[in-house]
Amino acid sequence: MKVKKQITQLTPYQPGKPIEEVKKELGLSKVTKLASNENPFGSSPKVKEAIQQELAFLNIYPDGYSASLREKVANFLNVKEEQLIFGNGSDEVIQILCRAVLTKESNTVMAAPTFPQYKHNAVIEGAEIREVPLVNGEHDLDEMANQINEDTRIVWVCNPNNPSGNYISKERFLSFMKKVPADVLVVSDEAYFEYVEAEDYPETISLLDTYPNLMILRTFSKAHGLAALRIGYGIASEKIIKLIEPAREPFNTSRIAQAAAIAALEDEQFIKTCYEKNREGLQQFYAFCEKYQLSYYPSQANFILIDFERSGNEVFQYLLENGFIVRSGEALGFPTSARITVGSQEQNAEIIECLSKMIEQKVEVQ
Ligand SMILES: *Cc1c(COP(=O)(O)O)cnc(C)c1O
Repeated sequence: MKVKKQITQLTPYQPGKPIEEVKKELGLSKVTKLASNENPFGSSPKVKEAIQQELAFLNIYPDGYSASLREKVANFLNVKEEQLIFGNGSDEVIQILCRAVLTKESNTVMAAPTFPQYKHNAVIEGAEIREVPLVNGEHDLDEMANQINEDTRIVWVCNPNNPSGNYISKERFLSFMKKVPADVLVVSDEAYFEYVEAEDYPETISLLDTYPNLMILRTFSKAHGLAALRIGYGIASEKIIKLIEPAREPFNTSRIAQAAAIAALEDEQFIKTCYEKNREGLQQFYAFCEKYQLSYYPSQANFILIDFERSGNEVFQYLLENGFIVRSGEALGFPTSARITVGSQEQNAEIIECLSKMIEQKVEVQ
């Protein structure tokens, strides 16, 4: 069988290891997963009620247009319903965009390291990838603007950036937008939007009128705690949404995910509590890093990238054997770091204690 040549260079996404698998493999009874930036506090109790009501309709296709959720999100964000596109996770919106926009004659610009799905999907479409290295963990927006030429179709901006956790300020973002030609789409991936504390974080939705070439991605997977249900969305000008809609599958988001997302959006208190606990959790990690003089990027998200000055795989393996799943920085472009999701206060204290032992070399690290 023949496949697209470019797909032979790709490997499937390596997700964080599932808890059950690690328990079985290593014979551990307790395993804590702090690998995929999932919400350690679950999701709003209102979500479970909403899902319960949908169970009577499992035989009926979902609303392909997500009309109820669309209305809810449009009101919540104060945008028009026609400015939204929903996906099976924001991952799918990235896929839809690449499918609709990129060709093998075009190129796409992104930071490196950043969220891998921009590149992955662009490679499948055969587009040229223009990666611009982060500088001190931050997007080099000047160089990204320099990389744009007449064949550039999409520029990806991950804000806050995964895996570094830092952010692009309003001022820097605006001066970048001014440089980007009007026919080049800028995608601002805001998967961690609800966790951002920085006061100078850009309010991108208010920029949509000025910049009709801007698209914003948000998700219910992170702060809303609905990762299992796969639902995210894009916000852009009506014109862009209309152009890319044909690349979306007719029933791409499920009935249960739509209902859950509506309920999740209604529970603003849940998000507020998770935000606060996350800020407190980050403080636990900052104190740990300062105690052992480890360098890290101050985070605007629910994870932290810590430089342990030793192989990230070694740190990963040590933690795994002690019942913690994290992401090794080696696969993320930071070979001596590990990316750790901020958990509950107790989970954070436990992993910090375990890491402290490693650093104080009370244990053998292979
Ligand atoms: C987690 C994540 C996503 C994908 O989230 P979905 O679960 O597909 O909605 C997108 N972008 C970034 C930067 C992420 O970290």
